Amino acid sequence: MAARQRPDVAIIGGGIAGCASAYYLAKKGLAVTLLEKGEIAGEQSGRNWGFVRQQLRDPLEIPLMIACNRLWQGLEAELETDIEWRQGGILHLADTDAVMAKYEAWLEHARTYQLDSRKVSGAEAAELLPGMARDWVGGLYTPSDGQADPVKTTSAFAKAAARLGAEIRTGCIVQGIETAGGAVTGLSTEAGEIEAGTVLIAAGAWTSAMLRRLGLDLPQLGVRSTVLRTSRAPEKTALGVWFPEFGFRQRRDGSFNVGAGASVDHDIGVDTLRHARAFWSAFRTQGGSLDLHLGRHFFEDLWVHLDRAGALDRRMRRDRVLAPAPSARKVRRCLDGFRAMFPEFGDIDLATSWAGVIDVTPDEVPVFGEAPGLRGLVIATGFSGHGFGMGPITGQLMAEVIAEGKPSLDLAGFRFGRFSERLGARRGTG
Ligand SMILES: Cc1cc2nc3c(=O)[nH]c(=O)nc-3n(C[C@H](O)[C@H](O)[C@H](O)COP(=O)(O)OP(=O)(O)OC[C@H]3O[C@@H](n4cnc5c(N)ncnc54)[C@H](O)[C@@H]3O)c2cc1C
Repeated sequence: MAARQRPDVAIIGGGIAGCASAYYLAKKGLAVTLLEKGEIAGEQSGRNWGFVRQQLRDPLEIPLMIACNRLWQGLEAELETDIEWRQGGILHLADTDAVMAKYEAWLEHARTYQLDSRKVSGAEAAELLPGMARDWVGGLYTPSDGQADPVKTTSAFAKAAARLGAEIRTGCIVQGIETAGGAVTGLSTEAGEIEAGTVLIAAGAWTSAMLRRLGLDLPQLGVRSTVLRTSRAPEKTALGVWFPEFGFRQRRDGSFNVGAGASVDHDIGVDTLRHARAFWSAFRTQGGSLDLHLGRHFFEDLWVHLDRAGALDRRMRRDRVLAPAPSARKVRRCLDGFRAMFPEFGDIDLATSWAGVIDVTPDEVPVFGEAPGLRGLVIATGFSGHGFGMGPITGQLMAEVIAEGKPSLDLAGFRFGRFSERLGARRGTG
């Protein structure tokens, strides 16, 4: 079946950013076509832990997440379906005074916005989460934070958008964004050409490669993050919990999603070298939790980077759903850590494990808004490992940017140009 040929807005990507945007745009009465190369929620949006967190966000993101939290609370009614939303709070635990001091410093931002985040003592942490095998210096707790099922939520947005008339097309690669006279004119796709004066690119880990074809250089790197699910267990907690080495939440069916925390893998590619300067400070502060790999991947990446002989298209056909292998070492470490932390689950089984490629920007906040110098191209990407929780507000704000030309919250700090401005300033040129 041919795709609709002239929507008001064409969206690239069926993750939560694309699907939520499709929903809020359709709700405003715009004709929307969403193109997804694989399946809805096939990549990050279906592979994440499911935390919906205001806690420890970059100050820029806090007002967005407060508004987003309100959306989450009404989302099941809005989308007319169960997404396993539960507002059980999020707890970060600290094993040193230095970590506690970091939490205290962040609480200044929480106070500015009257967030309900607060410091807890080690004893209070043990009350919130009984049965832990060790003591903690303390923790940071936000009772209004929550969790939801990633696949159910993202699919719910896609289905609700479709009910409002949006066309949701899966298994369809967007090969190029067409332009003329400094403006977007449409897309070339596996289903043919689509004319559209507005294109929203929400292509997750593929965004920078797509933008490069337009001469736009977005510093964005991919890191692999590993998650496991345990067998089912009796109800333990409604909290989402971060220990220094791993994090977890209990799903409605009783199983636990356990993730390797900030410990991620990165395959060194051409962009690692090209954007080394932009990522240097992130690398210095978090390098300890990053496992770097140099191998076969580099040469394939070089080919894709040069976009020789349709290498990017070939990779998109091969990785219609980007499903990297989880790190066996991290699965083992997380499972052992979880069992040791909760002796009552000392023999809990591993049910399954997976990984996802997280798209990261140098300052670990997303890029929102219009692309510089190209009318009609809007970008929502670079969520840096915390974009599931931001999904609903992303959709609402992108719909406002596109339909009204002005978002209801300040997005200036998320502009595309900030990276080159900073590099320019460091060089003393701007
Ligand atoms: C293991 C893991 C744990 C995480 N935990 C959390 C968490 O607990 N809380 C949280 O808030 N966030 C978390 N995140 C981050 C969160 O999942 C992402 O930030 C968010 O899902 C990004 O959504 P997206 O729509 O931008 O991208 P994606 O979900 O990656 O969607 C992009 C889509 O675009 C499609 N696409 C790309 N190029 C093309 C093309 N050319 N044509 C057609 N389609 C294309 C892809 O196939 C993909 O489906 C986690 C991520 C991972 C991987």
